[in-house]
Amino acid sequence: MQSPNFYTRKNNIIAAILVGIILSSAVSLAILHSLQSQQYSHLISESRRQLESGLLSKASLISKVAARHIAEVEHATEIVASNAAADPTLTGENLKALLVSSVQLTNTINAMYIFDKDGILVYTTNPSPAVQTRVGESFSDHIAFVGAKNKKASFISPLTEAITADISDRIFISAPIVDPANAEFRGVVMSSMPSANLADSINHDVALEGEYSMALVDIKGDVAASSGPAGSRIGANIFSDEILGQVPESIRVGFANALNDALVGRTGVYTINVNDQGQVTTESISDVVMIGYTPVIVNDETVMVSFIVESANIQSLLRESENPAFAPTFVVSYIILIIMAIFAAVIIVINRKLSGKVTKSTLALEKNNLDLLTITAELVNKSSELEKANRARDEFSAMITHELKTPLVPIIAYCELLISGAQGKLPPQVTEKLNIIHESAKSLSRLISDLLDVRKLELGQLKLDFDAVPAREIVTKAVESAKPLADSKNVLLISYPEKTENGDGPLVIKGDQKRIEQVLNNLLSNAIKFAPEQNGVVQISLKRDNAYVAFTVEDNGIGIPADKVQNIFQKFYQVNTSSKRSAGSGLGLAICKGIVEGHGGKIWFESKINKGSTFYFSIPLFASETQAVEREKAPGANKE
Ligand code: ADP
Repeated sequence: MQSPNFYTRKNNIIAAILVGIILSSAVSLAILHSLQSQQYSHLISESRRQLESGLLSKASLISKVAARHIAEVEHATEIVASNAAADPTLTGENLKALLVSSVQLTNTINAMYIFDKDGILVYTTNPSPAVQTRVGESFSDHIAFVGAKNKKASFISPLTEAITADISDRIFISAPIVDPANAEFRGVVMSSMPSANLADSINHDVALEGEYSMALVDIKGDVAASSGPAGSRIGANIFSDEILGQVPESIRVGFANALNDALVGRTGVYTINVNDQGQVTTESISDVVMIGYTPVIVNDETVMVSFIVESANIQSLLRESENPAFAPTFVVSYIILIIMAIFAAVIIVINRKLSGKVTKSTLALEKNNLDLLTITAELVNKSSELEKANRARDEFSAMITHELKTPLVPIIAYCELLISGAQGKLPPQVTEKLNIIHESAKSLSRLISDLLDVRKLELGQLKLDFDAVPAREIVTKAVESAKPLADSKNVLLISYPEKTENGDGPLVIKGDQKRIEQVLNNLLSNAIKFAPEQNGVVQISLKRDNAYVAFTVEDNGIGIPADKVQNIFQKFYQVNTSSKRSAGSGLGLAICKGIVEGHGGKIWFESKINKGSTFYFSIPLFASETQAVEREKAPGANKE
């Protein structure tokens, strides 16, 4: 049986493997998760980068378009100014015609104005009566007049009020009229560009999708053109509450920074991360507000800023690039790893329960085993005690049996003395009674002797005095002592001469003469006992059988039934206890067997029911049989 430690060790190994599976599942999950989130954030930042560059290119496109339109107007204004220089009145018909055609040629300006050197409006293409009434008035402090006069070059104004209305929605582009002969300042040509015209042209040239909102801001920060939320706020300052106040507070600072940055001529994208409540956050995987900005540069001068705002949420980014976290391979891997971990955990639990049961049963078995060992030890003890007691009992009964026999000796001797008449002739009735006593005492003595022999055989105490004994002598003596019984039963006793092989002398055995005689006597008395009442014959023969001498006692009696054959040599066994013939102790054959085997020989028999039985026994030949025989043959040698 394996010890509980063995199972515990095995269980610990299994548990360790399972924990290993769980841990490796967890590690794999963590690695998978970090891989997918790395990939995810990589995709997000890639998308944001693409957004940024898209935004930037849109902003610069707007700036370029705006710059192109402004430069076009500036160019047209300069041409008019150079033509005006050749007109001393500044109001010649040719000059007026040039002004009209210039206005028509450019899409973005609505009128042109000519001021003389003192700022007096001398001519305008603007047919509006309100404007026309102002011809002759001085505009010497008008920004466009002052700008061109002082700069001595073309000038682009920030958003400025219209001539007759108090709406700041005009960008004035002016150019000085300079006498080519003496470089004398003679006045200013001014083009008026409503910001709406500029916005229209930009919208026409640049297609802006819904999510963008665009604005053009002049260098003071006033909105010159816009789409989206600032669209209706032309002229309003971008830093005013009216505009910046509309922007969610959380991103206002970023918005202002972007504008300031752009106004100093820089190009860039300002990105603000916001969560889904619109609050600024540091999370990189969150919604974004991006502000792209580019200066509008005309003749190396920043005249405006274009900027473009885009709000993008993660969902829209993810739609463009599938979230790998939910890609089928990732999902399948997650499920497999989670199932593995659950499976391992379940096995650990089951294993713990089972191992608990196994340990319990093993302990119970061990206890039983221990109990069994204790019982076995007790049994061994008891059995050796029993053996001792048995031996003591056997010795005691052997001793008792011997003691029983002792008083019989004088009884038998005195019976014989009295029967012999040596003490005086006895009446026949007394002699008859004495004979009965004598026979009974002898048969009791025989029984006691038999019991004694059986005990001795059992205790291994039957002593045999080995000697070289002529087999014939044993037969002769046995026949002699059986004769009276045979005669009384009318049984014919035939003793055959011994059968020897060529060259053999008389057969000599190595044995205890008295004991071999006892065997032969027993077989003879059985044979006579079981011989038929009429014509009973018992035959005794001797022959050499290799290294043995085989004795044979054959009768023509009742035989032994086949089913009893195997018990015949057991002590106290009798085939038919009711039969008178079989009166006896059932010890004879058991003693015979013990004696023969004690000599190293064998005893056996053949029998046929109602035909007779033949008993055989073999005794080893005396080793120096030849010398013994020689001794017998020698002259004067005594026969034993
Ligand atoms: P017992 O004192 O009864 O003769 P034995 O041991 O000598 O005891 O014989 C055992 C039994 O074997 C006998 O009781 C008898 O039934 C049977 N037996 C022995 N010899 C013969 C025989 N020659 N013929 C028939 N039965 C025999």
